[in-house]
Amino acid sequence: MSIALLGFPWDANSSYARGPALAPAIIRSVLFCEAANPNSLSGMEIRPAITEYTFPELPSDAAECREAIYSAINSTIEKGNKPLSLGGDHSVTYPILRAIREAYGPVNILHVDAHPDLYDEFEGDRYSHACPFARAIEDGCIDNLVQIGLRSVMPAQRAFGEENGVVMLGADAVDQIPYDLLKAPLYVSIDLDGLDPAFAPGVSHPEPGGLSTREVLSILSKLPVSPIGADIVELNPEKDIQLATANVAGRLIKELTAMMA
Ligand code: MN
Ligand code: MN
Repeated sequence: MSIALLGFPWDANSSYARGPALAPAIIRSVLFCEAANPNSLSGMEIRPAITEYTFPELPSDAAECREAIYSAINSTIEKGNKPLSLGGDHSVTYPILRAIREAYGPVNILHVDAHPDLYDEFEGDRYSHACPFARAIEDGCIDNLVQIGLRSVMPAQRAFGEENGVVMLGADAVDQIPYDLLKAPLYVSIDLDGLDPAFAPGVSHPEPGGLSTREVLSILSKLPVSPIGADIVELNPEKDIQLATANVAGRLIKELTAMMA
């Protein structure tokens, strides 16, 4: 199956710092940089699997932007490609999941993040990067939601998660992931702040005590089915050091592409 790499340079729904809009172009520049091998860890050459690169200019109005993201994912799926999306902030995941639902119905999701992103609204914004999974649950986009890496959970989010059957696991609970829930159709959403800032310093909301790159790769390798789509979000190039986090994103793209192809 062919993979479409979509870049969504959008960070106007970030609550603290701008910067993730710069990420898709940076990630693209490091992905096939001569300094790194273009293969997955299993040895698969991933360039032939990526048949489409789409980095659309997005409208500045937030509602129009969500519709543009929805349409881009929709047309990717209609062409028979699996979308691998690069944020942008995590608000892009809600319109992505709406388009995924159109094609597949409710999906099971592995969500790597320091934050559950389950606020009903954040600073008055129901489409904030702190809210995408609340919106997606309300819209019936999700069957099972398994979150790993959490270490910044407010009581209201804990309550919403418990009411809705969300599996909320801290970064110390890697061995408790219920892989049996992560069956087809499976979607993967990786907020880079789920990793420890030692591995991924280039994020707007660094939370020490997170996952290692190796742990995330190991989790991905244990997924029981091939994902039908994925996103990698919240790289903030303005906070990054020596492209460290951009290179983590590049590695994750290679592994996800190999798994999805
Ligand atoms: Mn986060
Ligand atoms: Mn997030």
